[in-house]
Amino acid sequence: MRVTEIFHSLQGEGILAGTPSVFVRLAGCPLRCRWCDTKYAWSFSGGTEYGPTDLVAEVQRFSCRFVVITGGEPIVDADRLARPGLARLTNELRGLGQHVTIETSGVAFVRDLACDLMSISPKLGNSAPVEPDLAIDHERAKPDPEVLTALIEAYSCQLKFVVDVPEDIAEIRKLLGRLPPVAPERILLMPQAATREELRTRAPIVAQLCQETGFRYGQRLHLLLWGNQRRT
Ligand code: SF4
Repeated sequence: MRVTEIFHSLQGEGILAGTPSVFVRLAGCPLRCRWCDTKYAWSFSGGTEYGPTDLVAEVQRFSCRFVVITGGEPIVDADRLARPGLARLTNELRGLGQHVTIETSGVAFVRDLACDLMSISPKLGNSAPVEPDLAIDHERAKPDPEVLTALIEAYSCQLKFVVDVPEDIAEIRKLLGRLPPVAPERILLMPQAATREELRTRAPIVAQLCQETGFRYGQRLHLLLWGNQRRT
């Protein structure tokens, strides 16, 4: 499979924020989110080709139990079908005692993944690109309650929502109303921010929304610590 980068850092988001982890960033994403901070991983033909065995060996070089498979969008290929080799990769990692997190937008249901935490970040209207051609791709991949339900029922999940404005809460509530119950501590709201300064400005607003709604505040620790840099 095509890999954009492999690196060691701290998990920056979600219920495992702060956990030292190896990140495997797979190449390719069919969405075109407006505020995407990994546009360099959009191309499915980018990066370097690895077989599952070589990729497992690369991960093991870091001697780190936690592995995060991210993207791009790691669970699908360019045709939005299950990414070939991903099930085998996750099963090999799990067989070696690794804890596997998959970071996905929830664009498709893929079965048989060995995944300890399916970290789903459904994209709200605030992520739609302004460019009309990109907006078409994005619209085709907007959250599908049936797909999200299948993921929630098959895997141990967390839901992460990027909040741009307080009005996003209504959209989040509407989507959650069409999904099976998810424990409140596994539903996180994260400030939309591309820089530390934006994060500092928006964090108190999202924190206030969490206090009002009961959702959990979602860290963006990597942005806070290192700014908008690759491999963090
Ligand atoms: S789903 Fe993730 S990787 Fe893909 S465009 Fe959106 S933010 Fe970027």
